[in-house]
Amino acid sequence: MIDFRSDTVTRPSKSMRNAMANAEVGDDVYGDDPTVNELELWAAKRHGFASAMFCSSGTQANLLALMAHCQRGDEYLCGQQAHNYKFEGGGAAVLGSIQPQPIANEKDGTLCFKKLAAAIKPDDSHFARTTLLSIENTINGKVLSLEYMAKAREFTQQNNLALHLDGARVYNAASALNIDITEICQHVDSMSICLSKGLGAPIGSILLGSEALIKSAKRWRKVVGGGMRQAGIIAAAAKIALEQNPAKLQQDHDNAQYLAKALNQLDNVSVNLAQVETNMVFATFAENIDIADLVVQFKAKSILLTSGNPMRLVTHLDIDKADIDNFITQLSGALTLGK
Ligand SMILES: *Cc1c(COP(=O)(O)O)cnc(C)c1O
Repeated sequence: MIDFRSDTVTRPSKSMRNAMANAEVGDDVYGDDPTVNELELWAAKRHGFASAMFCSSGTQANLLALMAHCQRGDEYLCGQQAHNYKFEGGGAAVLGSIQPQPIANEKDGTLCFKKLAAAIKPDDSHFARTTLLSIENTINGKVLSLEYMAKAREFTQQNNLALHLDGARVYNAASALNIDITEICQHVDSMSICLSKGLGAPIGSILLGSEALIKSAKRWRKVVGGGMRQAGIIAAAAKIALEQNPAKLQQDHDNAQYLAKALNQLDNVSVNLAQVETNMVFATFAENIDIADLVVQFKAKSILLTSGNPMRLVTHLDIDKADIDNFITQLSGALTLGK
C-alpha cells in the first residue's frame, strides 16, 4: 500500500512496538503512569515550557488549550482556514462557549495584523471578550517565518491577548527553517504538537504551556473524557516519535520536492513548486480528468489518494522514492490513457 492521503497513516515502527510492549505503566488519572510523567517532563523541558500534558489527539489538545485560555463568553482570533476553527467540529463553541473570530488567511497562511486588530472587540457588554490569538504552523504545508512568529508575539502583547500555536506539524516548520524547535516555541504561550502525523507515533498529541494553563487544561481533559489510565503504552511510542523522528522530516520534504518535480513532467497535471515548502504537494489536474475515477482506479492498484482538484498528496515515513517512482509511472499511464 502506498498512501498519499496524509502523514497520519504512518504505522508504528518496530522500536515503538517494543517500547509499547515494555512500557512501565500506572493510572495516569492518578498521576501514576511513570512513562507518561517522564514524557511530559521531558517534553516541557525540551520545548522550553513550564508544563506539558499528553492528550489523545491534536483536536483535543487544541480544544483544551482554547478552554484553558478562554472563559465562557470570550473569543479567539484565528484564520478562516485554521484547523481549530474549520476542522474540529466547532469544539470551542460547542463545548467551551467560546466564540471564534475567524479572519481570512493571506496566501502564505499568515493573518494580517491590521485585520486582526480591527476584529478585537472593545470592552463593552455588547461584545464577546477577545482574549486569544490562535495561529497555525505549518498551515496547509506552508511555513510561518520566525519573523512572523515574533510579530505575532509583539501584537498579542500590545493587545493584551494570549497566543496559542496549533503546532500539529510544527516540527515540519522547524525542519524547513533549519532551526531548533525552541526558536518557534519561545514566541507563544501555548503550543500543541501532533505526534501521530509526520513524527510517526500511533496516537497522541502534546500540549505545552505554563503550569497554571496545563493545570486548567488537565481539568478540562477529564471533563471531555480524555483522562486515560495506563496511557504509558502509547506515551512510550510518543517519546520515540519526539526524540528520534524530527530529524527524519527533511527526508519527507525532499521526497515532496521529488514528487512535485516528477508530477510536473507529466501532461495534464501541474504543481506550483514554490508552494511546496514541507511534506505537502498540491497537484492541479486538467479539467477533463475525472478525479473521482482516478482515485478509484488507483485504490485498485493499492495507491491511496484524496479526491480533490487540486489534489493534496502528503509524504511521510512510510513513503520512499521507489514508491513515488511507482506512483508516477502508473499515473503517467493513466493520464495518457485518459487523453
Ligand atoms: C491534524 C491536525 C490537527 C488535529 O489533530 P488530530 O490528532 O487529527 O485530532 C490540528 N491542527 C492541525 C493543523 C492539524 O493538521
